[in-house]
Amino acid sequence: MSAQRKKKKKKTRAKSGRSPFLLKRFWLLLFLPAAVALDFAAKRSPDFAEWYAVHIYPLYAKPLSALFALAPVSVGEILLIAGSLALLAFLVYGTVRLCADRQRRRERLVRLLSVPAVLASLIAFLCVSNYGTNHRRWPFAQTAGLEVRESSAEELYALCAELTEEANRLREGQPEDADGVFLLNAEPFEAAETAKRCFNRLTPQYPTLETWGKPKPIFFSEVFSYLDISGIFCPFTFEANVNVHAEDALIPATMCHELSHLSGYMREDEANFIAYLACRAGNDAAFQYSGTLFAMIHATNALYDADRTLWEKADALRSEGVRRDLAANNAYWERYDTPVAEVSDRVNDAYLKANGQEHGVRSYGRMVDLLLAERRARLGDSRTETKPPAEPEPAEPPTSDGEGAQDDYNAPDDGEMYI
Ligand SMILES: [Zn+2]
Repeated sequence: MSAQRKKKKKKTRAKSGRSPFLLKRFWLLLFLPAAVALDFAAKRSPDFAEWYAVHIYPLYAKPLSALFALAPVSVGEILLIAGSLALLAFLVYGTVRLCADRQRRRERLVRLLSVPAVLASLIAFLCVSNYGTNHRRWPFAQTAGLEVRESSAEELYALCAELTEEANRLREGQPEDADGVFLLNAEPFEAAETAKRCFNRLTPQYPTLETWGKPKPIFFSEVFSYLDISGIFCPFTFEANVNVHAEDALIPATMCHELSHLSGYMREDEANFIAYLACRAGNDAAFQYSGTLFAMIHATNALYDADRTLWEKADALRSEGVRRDLAANNAYWERYDTPVAEVSDRVNDAYLKANGQEHGVRSYGRMVDLLLAERRARLGDSRTETKPPAEPEPAEPPTSDGEGAQDDYNAPDDGEMYI
């Protein structure tokens, strides 16, 4: 045996004799207390969270999102699938070896469990640093200088009427399928470029809104429909992933919603509002329609709860094209309304509450307050208390069954989980 081989054997023996609790990878567990400390600081001080969101997060989020945007597929989706399979294979392999090696069982057990423990520590840190802190930042209304306050049902009606008439106008001349339903006349990647362009048109007015990334169509989009997920921001690859299997009408708005998360705005209601602003900021007719339709759905759903008579007046304003798009959208999500989707919604709701969105999924309704504030700022307070018409046009009944009627006009739960 050569001296070199003897040395190697000695080294191997020394390694196996070392305590399994001294694995080099254990230093990575320090990311867990770091995540807790960062989350604590952000939770205690919105000023710190805002400073982090404005000065630290963009330093790495922008270049990394630009880098991952070069990939023609969603890297996050691949990571999720490949990573899950690899971890499963590792655990099965490790368990088999653990059972076979009785002499070193303790060491093998520590080594086996160390991998998921280290992964969990890293994931926790990335989750906190890449979106958790952004949940705690200043409200977008504060950054944008918008005054959010309680509003009358009449003012809400005026907003609904304005959005509906605008949606009707923008719907004219849009491409349609054989059933007369809106068709996005662009491939998903082409639409993603448009989304990025629209979004960055907001930057001069709102400097904190800027993205170097772009939306990514999810390859297994239909699977996400079963989970009731229309989009998902991946904080590990800084990708704004979008379910492109859903009906076309709201896909542009969803793309801009996910870009809002990428740019550091994690609250769902704010991301919805920013999506509306972004869609309207560009000069793409499909995006303008999608964003307006998106806002109209949220506003009229809020009006439905606030004043049923005014809601019927607003509902009567909708054009046939808009009605067909809404009906197709609702029919689509009803097809995927499975027990799996319900569980997914509950998980998402719990996630939102854990991140300081107290109302969970219901917090999406606050988007309407931002729409009202933006309208007041745009028109001036004196013009905002617009009354509905004194002699309303005959209202079309919502649907046949009262309370259930609202569902026919609801947006799909904009439930994104974050991986
Ligand atoms: Zn979202």
